Amino acid sequence: MSDWRTGVYLTTAEVEQDPEYSLRLRDEIGLTTVVLSFSGTLPEEVTELSPFPQVPPTDDQLTDLVLRHMDGGPVDPREFDRAAASVGPGVGATGDDDGFRRAVDGLKEQGLEVWLCGSSWTIRRLMFCPSRASVTAWFEAVYSHWAGAYGVDGLDITHARFPMGSFPLGLFGCTCDHCAVAASRLGYDMEEMIAALRQSRARLRQLDGKRLGEVVRMGVGFFDIIQALDVQPGLIGWLRFRAELLIGALTRFRSAAKAANPEIFFGGDTFPASMSLTVGHDLMRWGEFADFASPLVSHISAFTCNTLTEWARFLQSEIGDSLSTADALATIYRFTGYDGIGLPESYDGFGDADELAQRVPVADLVLRDLAKTKLYLPRDLPSYPILHGTGWPRPVIDRIVTEARRLGHDGIIWQGTDELMNSTPTYVRGT
Ligand SMILES: [Zn+2]
Repeated sequence: MSDWRTGVYLTTAEVEQDPEYSLRLRDEIGLTTVVLSFSGTLPEEVTELSPFPQVPPTDDQLTDLVLRHMDGGPVDPREFDRAAASVGPGVGATGDDDGFRRAVDGLKEQGLEVWLCGSSWTIRRLMFCPSRASVTAWFEAVYSHWAGAYGVDGLDITHARFPMGSFPLGLFGCTCDHCAVAASRLGYDMEEMIAALRQSRARLRQLDGKRLGEVVRMGVGFFDIIQALDVQPGLIGWLRFRAELLIGALTRFRSAAKAANPEIFFGGDTFPASMSLTVGHDLMRWGEFADFASPLVSHISAFTCNTLTEWARFLQSEIGDSLSTADALATIYRFTGYDGIGLPESYDGFGDADELAQRVPVADLVLRDLAKTKLYLPRDLPSYPILHGTGWPRPVIDRIVTEARRLGHDGIIWQGTDELMNSTPTYVRGT
């Protein structure tokens, strides 16, 4: 296991506050890699490519650039504040380039690899339209700069996805004119895809909840889903189209990064495999644009459990009172492949986010996605799952790491290290 990678997420502020911390991690847990959030500034030749007509952009200008929902309803403006505090999509407006360079250089002097961690299309609910030429050109320039300017070993792109399933509106975008043109260029038909989504919703509403619950508990399969939801080519096309959009853009981004620095190790985090297609991540094609994958299985609340409960609530609202909460949850668990591990049968059963790790079978939940990830990822593509080293019980962590090795993953990137070390400063929580 000499090539086992042990990484940790750190910020420049954390490195500045305690430069010895990464050394202690190196000695105590075998740290090899620091994934450092970008906190520098961009040169003018890059900032002038920002798709923002001005900095900060107005709400109208942001509305013009972000994802459109298929119903044409108002854009969700809840993350406009964060977007407005940026020089362009994914890059904050307040940076300190010298400080960032000092942090990179200091970590390199400690013999560590440094990956620059930078953002992409999505904040949380908000996504910049992935079909806008100005947005694509912007990320191309930003990633090229990041790859070449700081002497980093890797470029770890995060948030390169559609909004997570726990914000269902995001599942039904982007349907703007730019995306309709992109769809047609890739051989898809936006009108047909939207019609197929509506058709499935109409079919769903015809189901009897009591019978659905009974059948789900016996077992459902591929053909049941096609029949129950009247799955049309456009519905499959919708999932394929969104993944292809991202693959096309990310392929360009990697080329730009490699042109600036042929040695750069380019990749990013992957959404939990069970639901990765909902955010446009096709793990079987990950090797087309990435040198590695980091399965992001640490966010069991926002990514996984909140999605399961949101979708169960949606089912209940569509089907009506005949569908009990327990049956709605059982249906979603089976549909998404999380059944049989003892997830709660009521919404209250999940508790608050901070007690979730005590309420749900964390190791089983995470390992299910790590096993699927290895099924889908190209065989030789390095995979470094992202786990919590803070907030999860140590036996859970140990079991996941042991199984991750057995499954053939190639290392772990930690978010927080409190459970791993004897002397972790409490401010280090990762991001
Ligand atoms: Zn669009």
